[in-house]
Amino acid sequence: MSEQFTPIATLGEFGLIDRMVERLADLPRSEDLIEGIGDDAAVYRAGGDMLHVLTTDALIEGVHFDRSFIPMQFLGFKSISVNVSDVAAMNATPLYATVSIGMPRNLSVEMIDGLYDGMAEACKMYNMELVGGDSSTSHALYISISIVGQVHERDVVFRRGASVGDYLCVTGDVGGAYAGLKVLLDQRQAQIDLGDDYEPELDAHQYVIRRQLRPTARIDMVEAFRGAGIKPTSMIDVSDGIASEVNHIARRSGVGATVRIPALPFDPETRAVADQYLDEIDAYALFGGEDYELLFTINPEDVDKVDALQGCSVIGNIEESSKGVRAMSPETGLMPLHPTGYQHFEPGEEPPEFNISVDED
Ligand SMILES: [Mg+2]
Repeated sequence: MSEQFTPIATLGEFGLIDRMVERLADLPRSEDLIEGIGDDAAVYRAGGDMLHVLTTDALIEGVHFDRSFIPMQFLGFKSISVNVSDVAAMNATPLYATVSIGMPRNLSVEMIDGLYDGMAEACKMYNMELVGGDSSTSHALYISISIVGQVHERDVVFRRGASVGDYLCVTGDVGGAYAGLKVLLDQRQAQIDLGDDYEPELDAHQYVIRRQLRPTARIDMVEAFRGAGIKPTSMIDVSDGIASEVNHIARRSGVGATVRIPALPFDPETRAVADQYLDEIDAYALFGGEDYELLFTINPEDVDKVDALQGCSVIGNIEESSKGVRAMSPETGLMPLHPTGYQHFEPGEEPPEFNISVDED
């Protein structure tokens, strides 16, 4: 064993993926494997023209959720949704799920009932089946889910398909899940401060709290794309924030991108929360994450079809890789956009430029 101890945090998510790929590079690779590590799901040939997509995601107490915030039924629902979201990101539909649960001793039978009720509710919504799993005791509540989905080979969409000139789009609205988290954290602090005098005020924030605690995967948009004859050129789900996801698409596609900040779609309730806390709302969308919307690129020819579809916004465009990933707003101009934050331009770098003509609202 090596004497060295390098903290994992020094790698970052992108570095960690690179390193895993490197360690696994010598494994024999099946001819039926179409996409391995590096996308939202792995893709392999299932027979005929059909492909299967395979994805797994875990929710861990203390890391991904706080049991004092989230009702068990919502947790069950969310655990299925976050996995289905990765299936949707491949433009696929989910078929089967297995679930592995680590249960701490302070969990009751009623809590487990709630958890499974939530999973059942989600499976019904996404028209899929839960077909097996495993359970054991553990120190914290741990829910790991794997899902197999399917997609016709002509419909599959990867992160790697974006081309220079494509438009960057997002479904629904963004930043809401982070706004919900802010409200929940604030309410908890109030509870600690006020003790028995505490009366939660959650009614005004129903939408954003639901975005945080009970997100839905956008399988409905996958169906809408198909109905409208739209095939995105690349796609990813928004689990870590727009900034991170755009960087994933840019990296896998070998392109650059500019996100037009004023075009980011927000719900009025998300705006109200950002105003209340005097926060920059853009940061909620760019770095907050957990919105489980779909970020995708389209050929410019399809922009009218996307406009006609309810609930999609054009938020930027794809550029040459030399331009990198950038954010553009009237206040700040053009700035490099890294997965976890802005980086201001160094003096002497190229002046801001931006050319896209899509309706702003
Ligand atoms: Mg994903």
